[in-house]
Amino acid sequence: MIDFSSFHKLSYGLYLICSEFEGNKSGYAGNTGFQVTASPSVIAVSCNKDNYTCETIQKSKKFSLSVLQKELDVAIVGDFGFKSSADFDKFEKHEYKIGELGIPVVTDSCIAALECEVINEVDCGSHILFIGEVKVAEKLNDNPPLTYDYYHQHYKMLAPKNAPTYIDPEKLIEETADEKKSEDSANKEAAEHVCIICGYTYDPAIGEPSMGIPPGTPFEDLPEEFICPICSAGKDYFKEV
Ligand code: FE
Repeated sequence: MIDFSSFHKLSYGLYLICSEFEGNKSGYAGNTGFQVTASPSVIAVSCNKDNYTCETIQKSKKFSLSVLQKELDVAIVGDFGFKSSADFDKFEKHEYKIGELGIPVVTDSCIAALECEVINEVDCGSHILFIGEVKVAEKLNDNPPLTYDYYHQHYKMLAPKNAPTYIDPEKLIEETADEKKSEDSANKEAAEHVCIICGYTYDPAIGEPSMGIPPGTPFEDLPEEFICPICSAGKDYFKEV
């Protein structure tokens, strides 16, 4: 038997992994980045084959890994984690530089950045594990790193669909609903709604300041054109929790 919630007990950070081939920049948000050996300095990242970036890394044989900081605007995770580089320019809104290996390195909301040359890749089915030797490493500042746990708890977002840690949100929503069954649900106006695409949670008590929606606005009163601020899904994609 596999209890999927036990996977949430594993500890991770959250990273922006980028590459570029023949002028096409791409990048994605991933939690699976870790150091493999100290000497030489080697790290590994797991990349979904459906990610545009996967092919870019396979062709360029290079990738950068930027470490996200704890306090940030989640839009950067939304842009890199829930949209595709194939149809969205992830680098337009977020600060980056071209690193020494000639690939994009995101500096926006990040505390350190590594540039790597791929020395091996392992086909893991849905994902490719890229193993890279670190050629450039730079500390950007001393802010604390974002942990995956903090990301879930504080920003209330789920794993991006292509993440190795992805769990069907429907399953998690059912669990949450069950947990709350015994609670008094009379105050429907205060009910939170979760985006089933990305896991963003709309809390009426907070509203959505980034979209000019004040605290105290029930989900039902949101304009019909309301979209998820993270993944742009419409109201139909929200479920009450
Ligand atoms: Fe969403």
